Amino acid sequence: MLARIEAKIALAKAFSSRTSGSATFIPAVRSLSSSDSAAAAAPFDLAVIGGGSGGLACAKEAAELGARVCVFDFVPPSPTRGTSWGLGGTCVNVGCIPKKLMHLAAGVGDTLRHAGAYGWQLDGGAPRHDWEALSGAVKQHVKSLNFGHRSQLMQRNIDYCNMLAKFEGYEGGTPDRPLLALSATNPKTGRSRRVLAANAVVAVGGRPSLPADVPGAAQLGITSDDLFWLPRSPGRTLVVGGGYVALECAGFLAGLGLQAEVMVRTDVCLRGFDRQMANLVVDFMRQHCGVKFHLGCKPMAVTDQSGSASGLRVDWRNADGETNSAAFDSVLFATGRRAVTADLNLDAIGVAVDSAGRVVGGEDGQLEKTSVPGVFAIGDALQNGVELTPVAIRAGKLLARQLFDKTVSAESATATTMDYSNVATTVFTPLEYACVGLSEEAALTKLGPNAVEVYHAVYTPYEFVLPHLDQTQCYIKAICGPSSSGRQPLLGLHVTGPNAGEIVQGFAALLRTGTAAYEDLAGTVGIHPTSAEEITKLWITKKSGLSPMITGC
Ligand code: FAD
Repeated sequence: MLARIEAKIALAKAFSSRTSGSATFIPAVRSLSSSDSAAAAAPFDLAVIGGGSGGLACAKEAAELGARVCVFDFVPPSPTRGTSWGLGGTCVNVGCIPKKLMHLAAGVGDTLRHAGAYGWQLDGGAPRHDWEALSGAVKQHVKSLNFGHRSQLMQRNIDYCNMLAKFEGYEGGTPDRPLLALSATNPKTGRSRRVLAANAVVAVGGRPSLPADVPGAAQLGITSDDLFWLPRSPGRTLVVGGGYVALECAGFLAGLGLQAEVMVRTDVCLRGFDRQMANLVVDFMRQHCGVKFHLGCKPMAVTDQSGSASGLRVDWRNADGETNSAAFDSVLFATGRRAVTADLNLDAIGVAVDSAGRVVGGEDGQLEKTSVPGVFAIGDALQNGVELTPVAIRAGKLLARQLFDKTVSAESATATTMDYSNVATTVFTPLEYACVGLSEEAALTKLGPNAVEVYHAVYTPYEFVLPHLDQTQCYIKAICGPSSSGRQPLLGLHVTGPNAGEIVQGFAALLRTGTAAYEDLAGTVGIHPTSAEEITKLWITKKSGLSPMITGC
């Protein structure tokens, strides 16, 4: 604790000495008139557009390798609530971090509700949740991360501009490698800047989109960009969408004691994930958290009924064409995200984007390379990437090494190539779902039913024992390929249960070896008594028809 405080004080001192003592760390941003020659200023080795997970990682690594780097980052306020935030991008401000803290807050509520089962007597009746206290604490933490990112850029002499950047074309350089010209403005202050750079990275991420075909949505709806920063509780909330953001938000809202309902156009939630596991997540939310799901329903309109106690009225239609309506305090649209490339003027340099605005990258092994030399894309703005923070960070770092690490030769370049396969992930719903590798459906499609062996178990996490919770949805399955030389290759691992994310991370390292097999799981001595040990005890196959229910110790 003391070490942490000392580190913070040292950081604060470094920050104040740099800001007060010298202007070299953040060069004064001056407004250049069009007659100013941008070529007069030394060109940057790398211009990074976007100060989120990927952009910051790339910029920092490049600077550490000696490159002259500038970073542009600006957050246009969200359309309905005008929410905006500081440096660090989606993950830090309106994604992973605030989401995880709210997920944990909901979990604390669960612990309190089950405390009696462990002999605790909570005086003062049922616990009540204070949204303002939670969102205030989350905001404070996020601000400390914003500050940390800012300091790290300064420590590395990275030129940070709080401006919206775009490409202008080419200027100077050599005929075979012209320099990229970028201009940037801060829409709030009107300040502007123009730079030249040998390389540029598009790391602009994405923003949630509000449906244009639902009257009232664009005026009255909110998105995940607003939810974490709401000063007051969202109250009764309808979450529209069936992806992981929708289910995670509905999950923690319900856990905080709010009425949360989910409306999905189709009858599929968590599309792209293993179907059986996704259904377990939904079943748990229904049975344990009281979340109501409206599957196969499409919102038709959101109407303001202010003045009455009923808040917002949502009208919707189900798959049979029947209409219905209900009142909510908030309507959260988690219906998709769009890469924010529209205003980058990518046409000016010939970089293509797809219909979702994502930059079209290169072939396998060179995904971050666009068709234009010196222009790269990483993170959520890249087509065919994986939209997760650690992926953006890793891709950013590796790209910087490819560009500026002089020890990387053509032969060793594969070591700096981003591998998008076998990336583990977790859906932070009330019952966490973590996975790595192939889903059962993907394995069946790839190998055919005869070649796939699925080991599975329904287990009882110790968290469920004394409160006597129904463990039906706590499930593990290992997807394996056909046996060869006595080994069944491990193709995928899926876990639902408390702390599933913590469990699966380690097994992801095993999958990365490329030689992982069921025999490695079965040959490992478990840590008793943990949920993770159940993975080492898997022996029942789906094909055997035996019950996967684990009983006893
Ligand atoms: P971003 O982090 O979005 O950063 C892009 C930055 O560029 C932004 O600050 C943006 O304002 C800025 N920008 C855009 N255009 C310009 C411009 N023209 N000029 C200057 N600046 C510009 N991932 C996980 O791994 N785990 C999770 O648990 C997880 N939870 C999530 C929960 C939610 C609710 C959401 C929405 C996402 C979550 N993600 C999670 C995904 C993760 O946040 C993203 O994959 C990651 O942030 C992408 O990083 P990025 O660098 O590509 O873009």
